[in-house]
Amino acid sequence: MAKDVKGFLKIQRSGCIYRPIEERIKDFEEVFVLRPDEKTVEQAMRCMDCGTPFCHWACPVGNYIPEWNESVAMEKWERAYELLSFTNNLPEVTGRVCPALCEYGCVLGINSDPVTVRENELSIVERAFASGLVKPRPPEKRTGKTVAVVGSGPAGLACADQLNKAGHKVVVFERDDCIGGLMRYGIPDFKLKKSILDRRIEIWKREGIEFQTNVWIGRDYPTERLLKEFDAVCLAGGARNPRDLSIPGRDLKGIHLALEYLTQSNRRVAGDEIEGELIDARDKVVVVIGGGDTGADCVGTANRQGAVKVYQIEVLPQPPKERPPDQPWPIYPRLFKTSTSHEEGCERIWSVLTKEFIGRNGRVIGVRCVRVEWDKDETGRWQMKEIPNSEFELRADLVLIAIGFLGPEHKGMLDELGVGYDNRGNVKTDWRFMTSIKGVFSAGDMHRGQSLVVWAISEGRKCAHFIDEYLMGKSYLPCF
Ligand SMILES: Cc1cc2nc3c(=O)[nH]c(=O)nc-3n(C[C@H](O)[C@H](O)[C@H](O)COP(=O)(O)OP(=O)(O)OC[C@H]3O[C@@H](n4cnc5c(N)ncnc54)[C@H](O)[C@@H]3O)c2cc1C
Ligand code: SF4
Repeated sequence: MAKDVKGFLKIQRSGCIYRPIEERIKDFEEVFVLRPDEKTVEQAMRCMDCGTPFCHWACPVGNYIPEWNESVAMEKWERAYELLSFTNNLPEVTGRVCPALCEYGCVLGINSDPVTVRENELSIVERAFASGLVKPRPPEKRTGKTVAVVGSGPAGLACADQLNKAGHKVVVFERDDCIGGLMRYGIPDFKLKKSILDRRIEIWKREGIEFQTNVWIGRDYPTERLLKEFDAVCLAGGARNPRDLSIPGRDLKGIHLALEYLTQSNRRVAGDEIEGELIDARDKVVVVIGGGDTGADCVGTANRQGAVKVYQIEVLPQPPKERPPDQPWPIYPRLFKTSTSHEEGCERIWSVLTKEFIGRNGRVIGVRCVRVEWDKDETGRWQMKEIPNSEFELRADLVLIAIGFLGPEHKGMLDELGVGYDNRGNVKTDWRFMTSIKGVFSAGDMHRGQSLVVWAISEGRKCAHFIDEYLMGKSYLPCF
């Protein structure tokens, strides 16, 4: 089929299709509906195949976006998948959860709506799975070299996949009982169902990657053994050290870190037995502290568990709905976004500082807050000021703290290895992703701080290139 090169003038953007709120709120199934292939073909026609494709520039893995859009528009699905698989080890995950940095860079977005790049990606990969194109392709030759990858999040998995393709023996160590990192136990099933991970892991197993779960490096498995037994090591353990809120009342019952809550919920959805205190939002008023995406995941989870009311509060002011002048195209702007979880029911309050947790009989019953305003000082730095007499209280039966992460956990594996850290506490490497220890590399959140799945994949791939080069003297793996 020929592509209509004027598609962008004739066809309107048609974004993701979601299940009705009243239906999806009752379960943890994915919120979106996979769109029909004909719709994706039509949407791909909107791509202008730009001479300088800023979508490609904005994509951390350098996806060949104009090329695969063109293939889809011409219904050459197999070619589209081939192109997609050159640059992305987990397109079925980024196609679901990526904030689509590429779409904010899309040239069409300057004066119209950008191309639906993320949905196109998802259609390509899901069609490839459905038509049997995604199958195990073990390497033809083995190099005899061995690599240990610590951590099975997207960074570790992308690194392992690349190195296995290059013929090295790769063992992925994971302290959890299942593979996937935050994709498994952070991101809720309503955004990413876990069978999507299992499907890909099964292929990787059949290609020869070895996965060892329930192995905590630095606890169950001494770090020095790792260095003795493997020719190279990739540290991809994430950045799970949580930022807490040390204010009066923090020790009250009913106050939890977001990841404790989300991990438990994901385990419950998976049918796991929960040890210790059950954190459940049923019939509760829930206050989520932190206005970001992890907070939004708590909102969606609490509503599905049957919360009576959910607040999400944030100390920063509400971001603008349109690009402000200091965040012009094609950079990724900080905008006000309403996620599917917010649509399902949530009162969002901005410019609010949490001062104290109020309790009765040892349990939280409320949160004392004050409104704040932000002004620039003479040096141009933003300063927060409490607004006098603006104190207020919110009822809270369950409080979830989602205010980010401080970086990787140093105690244990990292300190034992003696790797260097940067000024933010992340594992420091040279430009080849090698730490201060020869043969030990690092990628993903452990190296760059809390980020995105797509950045973790990008780092895992680059790191694999340099590990391969370290082991073999040169590498044919892509370094993007
Ligand atoms: C709640 C939540 C929701 C998110 N939603 C999104 C989203 O929608 N879209 C998006 O793009 N990004 C999202 N992110 C961010 C994204 O998940 C992370 O940036 C990404 O997973 C980082 O990948 P990683 O491989 O570096 O680390 P992780 O995914 O954190 O994986 C690290 C793994 O290493 C293991 N590990 C650590 N130390 C050891 C050790 N010593 N021995 C053995 N194993 C070890 C850990 O158990 C973990 O499984 C979200 C993050 C959170 C917290
Ligand atoms: S910038 Fe937008 S229109 Fe241009 S090639 Fe990329 S997706 Fe297509």
